[in-house]
Amino acid sequence: MNFVFDFQEGDGTDRDLLGGKGAGLAEMTRLGLPVPPGFIVTTEACRAYLAASDFPQGLWDQILGAVTRLETRTGRHFSSAVGPPLLLSVRSGAKFSMPGMMDTVLNLGLNDEIVTLLGAWANDDRFAWDAYRRFVQTYGRVVMSVPGDSFEEILSELRDREGVEDDSRLSAAALRDATSRFHALVRERTGRAVPDDAFSQLEAAMRAVFESWNSRRARSYRRIHGIPGTLGTAVNVQTMVFGDLGDDSGTGVCFTRDPATGENRPYGDYLPNAQGEDVVAGIRNTLTLDEMAALRPEHHAHLLKVMATLERHYRDMCDIEFTVERDKLWILQTRIGKRTARAAVRIATGMVGEGLIEKRDAVIRVRPDSLNQLLHPRLPDDYAGEPITTGISASPGAATGAVVFDADTAVEWDEAGKRTILVRWETTPDDIHGMAAAAGILTSHGGKTSHAAVVARGMGKPAVTGAADLVVDQQRRCFGIGDVQYTEGDVITIDGTTGRVFSGEVPLVEPEASPELEELLAWADAYRRLGVRANADTPEDAALAAQWGAEGIGLARTEHMFLGDRLPVVQRLILDEDGSDRKAALEELRALQTADFEAILAAMDGRPVVVRLLDPPLHEFLPDRWELESERDEAVAAGRDSSEIASLMAQVARWEESNPMMGMRGVRLGLVMPDVYRMQVEAALHAVRRRFDAGGSPRLELMVPLVATAEELHRVRLMIDEEIALAERSAGRTLGVKVGTMIETPRAALTAADIGVEAEFFSFGSNDLTQLAFGFSRDDAEAHFLSKYLDDGIFPASPFESLDERGVGRLLRMATVEGKTANPRLQVGICGEHGGDPASIRFCHGAGLDYVSASPHRVPVARLAAAQAAITASGN
Ligand code: ADP
Ligand code: MG
Ligand code: MG
Repeated sequence: MNFVFDFQEGDGTDRDLLGGKGAGLAEMTRLGLPVPPGFIVTTEACRAYLAASDFPQGLWDQILGAVTRLETRTGRHFSSAVGPPLLLSVRSGAKFSMPGMMDTVLNLGLNDEIVTLLGAWANDDRFAWDAYRRFVQTYGRVVMSVPGDSFEEILSELRDREGVEDDSRLSAAALRDATSRFHALVRERTGRAVPDDAFSQLEAAMRAVFESWNSRRARSYRRIHGIPGTLGTAVNVQTMVFGDLGDDSGTGVCFTRDPATGENRPYGDYLPNAQGEDVVAGIRNTLTLDEMAALRPEHHAHLLKVMATLERHYRDMCDIEFTVERDKLWILQTRIGKRTARAAVRIATGMVGEGLIEKRDAVIRVRPDSLNQLLHPRLPDDYAGEPITTGISASPGAATGAVVFDADTAVEWDEAGKRTILVRWETTPDDIHGMAAAAGILTSHGGKTSHAAVVARGMGKPAVTGAADLVVDQQRRCFGIGDVQYTEGDVITIDGTTGRVFSGEVPLVEPEASPELEELLAWADAYRRLGVRANADTPEDAALAAQWGAEGIGLARTEHMFLGDRLPVVQRLILDEDGSDRKAALEELRALQTADFEAILAAMDGRPVVVRLLDPPLHEFLPDRWELESERDEAVAAGRDSSEIASLMAQVARWEESNPMMGMRGVRLGLVMPDVYRMQVEAALHAVRRRFDAGGSPRLELMVPLVATAEELHRVRLMIDEEIALAERSAGRTLGVKVGTMIETPRAALTAADIGVEAEFFSFGSNDLTQLAFGFSRDDAEAHFLSKYLDDGIFPASPFESLDERGVGRLLRMATVEGKTANPRLQVGICGEHGGDPASIRFCHGAGLDYVSASPHRVPVARLAAAQAAITASGN
């Protein structure tokens, strides 16, 4: 079994076997780039080691062979009394880079004897002792687990003794002293010595790399990111090169493009006379590449050539580590560089323009969810302020505002032109108007799927939830974090992208309309099969959605039209059963709704608009019974007449349900109180007529909610068809109205073939369908057990965020196939929150839906995700 590959013989595309770092080193060597020679011990060796808790048969001999070949190639000697000495770096490198893996050990192979040979080779004793003390320090910390602070303490003492600020100024004598004290420290802490023998050093370092695969941090990282624990890590053993041999040496990191902006311009840091991690450690100020060019034009030119080679080879932005040793450039690592969303879009489109990649590659490369970063105001990329607390990143974007503690104040202040952050223990449906008025939402409870999170995401507003340090005192209108109190009006800034909360105002970066994003989305549109619509209840949201490329409205909910100033009218309608008042109230609502519908149809002219008939239980529009009770008690105590309140209370009590989610709502309401639905249909049809009269092209689709049987839909349809016939007769033309239903009960999904013949379209209400399929309500799940389920891994993800493919998804797939079989012209879409979730969109593509509908802010995300689903499904 071959466990060891020299860099020049490894297959640079085999990341499974060689790990990411090893594959990169092999590939760069093959490309003829100046990579210090070395070899890779495979992930297979790691797996064998972990299975047996020891080196597998033959491994150590293969390593010895590879070291001998290195000696020949470099003309140096490992573990030898004759120089020049060969020193090695030992670097872990799994297929995916992850925290918890062993840190790199540099300068391996030194001992009290060989350090003298190194000094003679470099003609620099100080350098040699610095290399040696770095080796003992890193080896002691990384391989023998002595806490790093203890080494730092010794260094700090020596700096004080010599009166210098940083380690690079310590004398050779001090470094020699440091080395022997480090040796003593390791012996004292572990009872063992750092081995003198270079081969023993190498063996222990290899074992430590293998064992770090199972460190706690690595294991938990793998669990969170779904990386199999069976992969194992490779080990890279490489000839050391030295960037700290004087001013003709140095070390640096560079990117082939700017990773923050995506600009096509090399970007990097260079530190003269320094080794390895000095660059990232930030001990001394680094130079930019331009400054490096002024100092060392020939290295800079060479580096640019390497960058160009690597970028052309990998056809992506590369991140490169390099070292200059006495005027010779060495490349130590490359990988595909991390980047901001803005840079990702710019690099992807830029590379298409340069002919480096195809449009399809560009569309695939940008993560749909990352676009959120671009669609909301955000903190400056380099913002370094200390947060006062950190909660859960519930809804992306950042907002600054004065804290308020109740919804009404948020509305009042908003009307007065003041931006606010609504701070609550947790939000409830009663807070909606305040959430709409606030710039952002902060709660001490809840998580990614709590009320605040879900509503904020729907509104495209930043939210931080579950900020557990926050002690909110709603009564006194303040919150505390530790000893610090914030009262109403104090300004804070929240960052819903990371969950951080800051005191005071932070100037935010506004989302910029970028031509590159538009271009990328236009390409995406050409690949996707799924249509993309938006959920919008108001003309403003509809206009916003159209601007972001929505091809229609997938869900316009009408209950919002029953709130605000209209609430008293609605209450009159509900409470007066015998007629006179009820008729007047209906008339009033009809006029108001006609105008609402007309405005939405106008904002989406020429595109389909799905209007859902009233869905929630009516008692949601009635006053709260407990509030009424305390009002009555007050009236009684004050000796006022309380009979009117008492009779209202009795009426309210009559409407109460023990399980409202499963009670008198949706189509049931439409069948039991037909005049409300009839009024809504009349209003919608009237709006269509007026749009036609105004020269528009309205495309109304009327949707009946919560249907469970075909007969329910059939009966409501008779009424709707009657109204349509009437309206068309009086208009003297067809109005082109479609009638369909939501599929949101399991029974509706199971009988989709029957319901399909009664409907022109289906739209999956995947929120309710999820609740009913699982048999729990979202509010109760989120309040009591969902977070435990997620923490314990009972659920891999919240089924409210990402569609449960095996269960709810199965209903979706079945209903789509059976509905379309029964009615080949049936249009099928989804309008639950899942319509904006990339993984769920991929599923909908595969299940044969016609479109997804997402909140306006997620329309670009959905366009990109739908394109990726189409591209990957077709195997291109
Ligand atoms: P990481 O994955 O944390 O970047 P690396 O293995 O790349 O770990 O190495 C840590 C530091 O050591 C980097 O700055 C790298 O450039 C440097 N380094 C690694 N191998 C060598 C080598 N053979 N010669 C000189 N420096 C090296
Ligand atoms: Mg590195
Ligand atoms: Mg529903």
